[in-house]
Amino acid sequence: MKEQRSVDRKLAILADAAKYDASCASSGSKSTRKGSKIGSTEGMGICHSYTPDGRCVSLLKILLTNYCIYDCQYCVNRVTSDTPRARFSVSEVVDLTMEFYKRNYIEGLFLSSGIIQNSDYTMEQLTLVAKTLRTDHRFGGYIHLKTIPGAAEELITEAGLWADRLSVNIELPTELDLKQLAPEKKKPQIVTAMSGIKEKIDETKEDRKSGMKPPKFAPAGQSTQMIVGATETPDDEILKTADELYTGQRLRRVYYSAYSPIPHADALLPGKSPPLIREHRLYQADWLLRFYGFDVNEIVVREDRNLDLEIDPKLAWALQQRDYFPVDVNTASREQLLRIPGIGARNVKRILSIRRHKKLRTDDLKKLRVAWKRAKSFVITVDHNPALANLDRSDLKQLIAPKERQLTLFETFDAALKGEL
Ligand code: SF4
Repeated sequence: MKEQRSVDRKLAILADAAKYDASCASSGSKSTRKGSKIGSTEGMGICHSYTPDGRCVSLLKILLTNYCIYDCQYCVNRVTSDTPRARFSVSEVVDLTMEFYKRNYIEGLFLSSGIIQNSDYTMEQLTLVAKTLRTDHRFGGYIHLKTIPGAAEELITEAGLWADRLSVNIELPTELDLKQLAPEKKKPQIVTAMSGIKEKIDETKEDRKSGMKPPKFAPAGQSTQMIVGATETPDDEILKTADELYTGQRLRRVYYSAYSPIPHADALLPGKSPPLIREHRLYQADWLLRFYGFDVNEIVVREDRNLDLEIDPKLAWALQQRDYFPVDVNTASREQLLRIPGIGARNVKRILSIRRHKKLRTDDLKKLRVAWKRAKSFVITVDHNPALANLDRSDLKQLIAPKERQLTLFETFDAALKGEL
């Protein structure tokens, strides 16, 4: 009984501490009904994530420990913080995962940790959890392991054999930001850890192509998290860092996490979080980068080098590049269609397929549920040709911009998952 209470206490602390890590898509579920106990997934550290085949899986999201020898100023678990501490043993995490899994609460595990003793020791402990689950318990669920920069290559290689996904947090957008707020962390070391994972993933793919059957290595790839708003670094720098990681390290996802103030924070840190809408806009810009053919240097159009918070980045770009429009949906190339505000990548695909059989009318676009209010000034259809004078209107932004409203956490989460804009 006493032992169970101790595990429950650790779970409360270490699930709460893990919620700051956004690199598994959602940092907590609100799927349960208010006041319910049975089936409640709140307060236990259960989050949702997406597997490469698009399945939504619930994960037990915890830290092995929130003790840490580092002093990252933005982190509640830093060594100088007076937060309550706890540490699971490897077998406790294994048992908890199996228990939750057997009760159908979860389909996998997201495991991270503060750094204890050193990078190698911490990485060893994390890997041992995954290895024990896979070998002793034949656990077939999803495992996402946090990789500790600076850990020996062979430890990271072993981690990738047992985990579906590995992630190394870039933490802050620039080297200077790290220097200011997390001096023990070095960007080259973080990038080296990512490169090591990328090389191993590539090697495994090559071996497979040549007919060999190497063991799987992090089949769901790698992701990272970047904290936004802890420093003054503008959005164009943040997106450049993300772009470097997508192109250089072939990351599957960069997750943006709005800085949230912590008790007794350093004076260098802002006293409040950036608006949730900033995170939302960064996710939208991220989609433009990955799926809409935008170059990183053209997404941020404002002089202050930040995204416009009032409108989505594709609309902001279109309003800046009015000469590019109107675009005829019946003749334009895929690349041109992708630039039209309010027509998402899925709808571009549908438009290209429909127009093989017929010419598209306005009603066809409405049936596809394109965001007509946003799109109509920028497109030509068989029965719609917006006057050029309309495109030149100085108040076009005000006419199109959605009414200001409070954004919910769910919408930011949604923006991370769906890239229709
Ligand atoms: S290393 Fe991780 S857990 Fe430790 S203080 Fe830095 S961010 Fe927090």
